[in-house]
Amino acid sequence: MTNFDIKITRTDAPKAKPADTSKLGFGKIFTDHMFMMDWNSEKGWYNARIVPFENLSIHPASTVLHYGSEIFEGLKAYRRADGQVQLFRPIENIRRMNRSAERLCLPEIPEDIALHVLKTFVDLEKDWTPDADGTSLYLRPFMYGNDESLGVHAVHNATYAIIASPVGSYYPEGINPVKIMIEDQDVRAVRGGTGYAKCGGNYAASNRAGERAAKQGYSQVLWLDGVERKYIEEVGAMNVMFKIDGKIVTPMLSGSILPGITRMSCIAVLKDKGFEVEERLLSIDELAEALENGKLEEAWGCGTAAVVSPIGELCYKGVKYPVNNGEIGATTQMLYDTLTGIQWGKIEDTFGWTESL
Ligand SMILES: *Cc1c(COP(=O)(O)O)cnc(C)c1O
Repeated sequence: MTNFDIKITRTDAPKAKPADTSKLGFGKIFTDHMFMMDWNSEKGWYNARIVPFENLSIHPASTVLHYGSEIFEGLKAYRRADGQVQLFRPIENIRRMNRSAERLCLPEIPEDIALHVLKTFVDLEKDWTPDADGTSLYLRPFMYGNDESLGVHAVHNATYAIIASPVGSYYPEGINPVKIMIEDQDVRAVRGGTGYAKCGGNYAASNRAGERAAKQGYSQVLWLDGVERKYIEEVGAMNVMFKIDGKIVTPMLSGSILPGITRMSCIAVLKDKGFEVEERLLSIDELAEALENGKLEEAWGCGTAAVVSPIGELCYKGVKYPVNNGEIGATTQMLYDTLTGIQWGKIEDTFGWTESL
């Protein structure tokens, strides 16, 4: 797709790039430009542009401010050892964004156009991709309903934007297993709701449980299903996998779970290495039993930010269960090494997942 015009206005005041890439943190500084385009139910997508990074001006009655019409994506550009910058499975993010859009009655973007604008934007900002170990350029595409009226109805005007932020290593001090609280009060999503869509509203609704867990020293919550509070769903902003008695078990995509691209990639790597992977319902009782009889060998979360995050302790109804003595297990480590190896171009990408600009 090359005949989709993007008007580029370069900044005349480029910012200094961070000198110390060990202190980048996550999503705190932004590059010089941003991509934007608008949509109207009559005109379709129009006014695609790359402009200097700046605050948005938004009507006080804008749909997103009142009714939460917002979706987003998260992916990274990685600098390889040879200096080239590459993306990891960007088409999967685009497909997921369109599924999120469909759920929230926001407009979809044709895949070829979405990929073209993403690559054009990243190409312009690629010098912001840091090169220290574990660092990357985090890309945040997002879309919001932008009608200037308070009526409740499907969106007639929307805006799509992409911003980029150089981010530090998720594990500046080496991989540390995290402590996870199993949430038995709040639920994140229900079947028929928006659990499978990557939308801001899901996050707003999950903050309370996250805060409660944090107060007790837990880094994230593990969600149970919204109907019976019995089946494992996912961890905070990550999908979750368990190694039980030699087999890998991960909750199936039931509609209330976010279909992670890291999840999908972990499953492919595991199968490629000969593991048996079961995507199915996993009840908290089955998990507790596996914890008690020592069959739970490993547990980890997986998502773009951390790639793979080993779980060292699970807490359920006040009872603390250590997992693998609080250490990272061999399978978790293998997944981390394989995925990060492919993403940063350190090992051969036999899956064809990476995409140069
Ligand atoms: C984004 C996200 C994930 C992970 O998805 P990836 O594509 O692997 O980054 C998992 N759960 C939730 C709730 C998310 O928002």
